[in-house]
Amino acid sequence: MSGLPPFEHTPIDTIPTTVNSIQASFLSHKTRQLDFRLVQLRKLYWGLKDNKDLIIEACKRDLGKSTFETYLTEVSWCMNDIVFMSKNLARFAKDEPAEDIALTNKFFGPRIRKDPLGTVLIIGAYNFPIQLSLGPLIGAISAGCTAVLKPSESSPNAAAIMQKIIAESLDPSCFTVIQGAIPETTALLDQKWDKIFYTGSATVGTIIAKKAAETLTPITLELGGRNPAIITKHADPKLAARRLLWAKTLNAGQVCVSQNFTLIDKEMVPAFLKEMKISLQEFYPQGAQKSPDYGRIVNLKQFQRLKKMLDESRGKIVLGGTMDESDLFIEPTVVQVDSLSDSLVAEESFGPLMPILPVTDLGEAIKIANQVHETPLGIYPFGNQQEMEKVLSQTRSGGASLNDGFFHASIPTLPFGGVGSSGQGAYRGKASFEVFTHRRSITKTPAWIEGMLDIRYPPYTLKKQQK
Ligand code: NAD
Repeated sequence: MSGLPPFEHTPIDTIPTTVNSIQASFLSHKTRQLDFRLVQLRKLYWGLKDNKDLIIEACKRDLGKSTFETYLTEVSWCMNDIVFMSKNLARFAKDEPAEDIALTNKFFGPRIRKDPLGTVLIIGAYNFPIQLSLGPLIGAISAGCTAVLKPSESSPNAAAIMQKIIAESLDPSCFTVIQGAIPETTALLDQKWDKIFYTGSATVGTIIAKKAAETLTPITLELGGRNPAIITKHADPKLAARRLLWAKTLNAGQVCVSQNFTLIDKEMVPAFLKEMKISLQEFYPQGAQKSPDYGRIVNLKQFQRLKKMLDESRGKIVLGGTMDESDLFIEPTVVQVDSLSDSLVAEESFGPLMPILPVTDLGEAIKIANQVHETPLGIYPFGNQQEMEKVLSQTRSGGASLNDGFFHASIPTLPFGGVGSSGQGAYRGKASFEVFTHRRSITKTPAWIEGMLDIRYPPYTLKKQQK
């Protein structure tokens, strides 16, 4: 029998009282102590380590994730973030002197204090249920905030194990989990927050932004993107195939930074498809469905959405295409499309579907990429250095990996976030501390300086004006 705790919705009528008590704890100032924050981080580290097997079990049940993937992208991901933050917190939290100030201003000791924003709401997504919830929480703890976490109800086992870890590891008066779906999240959004940190779709992101605007609550939005990959005629087809296949098979393609479509020089299509076929065979010699390394679609609703997209696509399947509803399995599938309006290009698939659209040259690829989404979450050019630089200088995106699929997102100290409609604000590394911190500007006017300040007081005599 598994030791996984059950997933239970939080009674809605308890939400205001819970939030009030978490707010009161912030106002007690206990989270302002650096030692308090470090102890919480350490306890969370051990909570993750002690519950590693249950987390692996939970992610297997929710998403069919392999042990290796869960360890790499959830457990050790968060543990490493905690180690980094613990090592650097004192430095991040230290006052910063004002830059480049005139000598006379030095007497006022101008500095920036790093104050916690207050009580924050973190709303997680289902695809990386642990890292997308605990990642921001690590930032909130480090910054000295109190926090309420609302994990995604679509990955209920991961949500339940996080609730257990947080309840057992962290100070319950400062950090808690509210479980639920739209009604519970709506009740949470009715409360007053000092920040809302949301990860998920742009549709829900818009709801959050509108609600937050009513009370001028600051928000960070980590949204989806229709990310392009671009393969020029100078790219290495083998590398491009292996790396893009990896980027679409990790978590069965349910990755916000995965390429949504690939714009490929038409001369490269045969070589790329040949290499894609070889790579697929190498990754999953017995087929993806039999492989313990390949995940499943999170639920029937998402499975049917993906199936519908594939059914409606006017493109032709050139590789894969097998689906098994009873197992929520979708094979990594390459589809050759000939139009931008194909739903596989126009919409975010968020699954293991890989549309490729042949183009005549890099110029056309850049034009199409900008047309589909001016500001995707990521962009992935494969080609020579000059071509990749051209892509960077003629497009915008939250981040970019040259010669790879979303590798930039795995560097723990690079800020991760979108731009424009793929999101606002960033976290990870130092950015996780900053996103929950108010940079409070401070000066102190010494008593002895009053004589020098005389000039600022009226009456503004001619003598003062001539000084
Ligand atoms: P989602 O937007 O459906 O759900 C995310 C969260 O919002 C959940 O906690 C859910 O309970 C809540 N929610 C859903 N509907 C709501 C409503 N009407 N009102 C209030 N709250 C509501 O997202 P998802 O399906 O979990 O994730 C998929 C999307 O998220 C994709 O678009 C993907 O690209 C994006 N995503 C982005 C990132 C990132 O870091 N930028 C990471 C993962 C996923």
